[in-house]
Amino acid sequence: MTRSNADSCPGVLRLHEAADGPLARVRIPGGQLGAAGLQALAEAAEELGDGALELTSRGNVQLRGIRDAAALTERLDAAGLLPSASHERVRNIVASPLSGLAGGVADVRELAPALDAGLRAAPELAGLPGRVLFTLDDGRGDVSGFGGDIGLHAVEHEVFAVLLAGADSGIRVASGDAVGLVLAAARAFAEIRGGGWRLAEVADGAARVRELLGFASTAPGRVVPDPADHPPIGWLPQDDGLVALGAGVRLGVLPARTALFVAAVEKPVLVTPWRGLVVPDLDEWTAEQVVRVLAPMGLIFDAESPWVRVSSCAGAPGCAKSHTDVRADATAAVESGRVASPTDETGAALGPIPAGDVRVSGRQHWSGCERRCGHPHGPATDIVAGPDGYRVTGP
Ligand code: SF4
Repeated sequence: MTRSNADSCPGVLRLHEAADGPLARVRIPGGQLGAAGLQALAEAAEELGDGALELTSRGNVQLRGIRDAAALTERLDAAGLLPSASHERVRNIVASPLSGLAGGVADVRELAPALDAGLRAAPELAGLPGRVLFTLDDGRGDVSGFGGDIGLHAVEHEVFAVLLAGADSGIRVASGDAVGLVLAAARAFAEIRGGGWRLAEVADGAARVRELLGFASTAPGRVVPDPADHPPIGWLPQDDGLVALGAGVRLGVLPARTALFVAAVEKPVLVTPWRGLVVPDLDEWTAEQVVRVLAPMGLIFDAESPWVRVSSCAGAPGCAKSHTDVRADATAAVESGRVASPTDETGAALGPIPAGDVRVSGRQHWSGCERRCGHPHGPATDIVAGPDGYRVTGP
C-alpha cells in the first residue's frame, strides 16, 4: 500500500490541533522514565496543559491543551525528554516492562536506550514514519504480539529472534549484534517503504528487508505469541528480593498531581503499553507506603479491578470526530458495576443502545467513532459510539 499523504503523528515539535487545543506526544523509548522526567511532564501538564498525562498504548505520554508550545519544548528539552529534534517521532520503542526485574529469558533494559541512540545517530532514519514501532521482548511474550515493524524476541539468554512486520523472520542474532541488526533493518525499511507507514503495508516488505540484510534464504520462524492481556498490576516480587509495583491508570489518564506523588518516590518508572506504570526497586516497607498513598489517589493496584479491563479513546470534548464523551460513559459503566456484568450480556453487533444500557464484561475498548483510536493490542469487545448510541461487537 502506498499512502498519498505524509503521516500526521504528533510530537513535541509538531503538535496536533485537537478539539480541546494543541496536543503533544512525548516519546518514552522502552517506557523508561526517570523521576525527574516524570516530574517535568507533570509540571508541564499542570502549568501548560490540561492538568493530566495521557498514557498511550505504545508507552508514550501525551499532553493536551498546550497553551505555550515554545515553553513546552524548552522544558522537555531541559528535562532530557527531547534529545533529538530531527528524530523525535521515530523513537517508538516498546520493551517488556518487567525485563531484568522479574522473569524473562533475557534482560532488554539496555537495548532500548542503545536502539534509541542508534536511531538518533542515523540521519537516514529521521524520515521514518512516526507510526513505526520497534519491540523488544525479553522472551516472556508480552510485547512481541503488538505487531511492531521491527523487533527482537529473546529465544535464549544471549540470542534473539528478529521480528519483521510482527512476524518471526527466522533470523537469529547474538545480543551483542542485535541493536545493529535492528538499525540495519530500519534502514532497509526506509529504503523500500515508498509511501508506506508500516512495514506490513509494503508488498513483500519482510522478505525484501530480509534480502537487504543478506538473509534471503532464511525461512520464517514461529516464535511470535499472541498479544499479552495481562498488564503488570499490583505487588510484583522481583528476582532480587525487591518489589515492583504495577499501577493501573484509569482510562490511561494520569492526573498531574498523582504523577508528582509518583515522582516523589524518586525511582525511575516504567510507562507500560497497557497505559499503566511500574515503579520498580522498592523495599517492602516503601512499597506499602506507596500503595497507601497512591491507591486513594486512584491508581489501581488490584489486578481484578474492572478498571484494568476498560480502555477508551479520548472522545469528546478532546476529539472533534467523537459522537460523545466516551470517557464519561466508560467511567459511568465501571462505577455503576455494569462492566462486571455476566459475559452472556456481551453480544455481537448489538445496538445502537444508550450509554447507560451498555453492559459488557471482560476486556473492552470504548471509542467515540469507528476509528477506534488507542485500541488495545489483544482481543477486546468494541463499544463504538454512533449518532444514535453505542454498538457492541466482538471480541
Ligand atoms: S476513535 Fe474517533 S472519537 Fe476516538 S479519538 Fe479516535 S478519531 Fe476521535
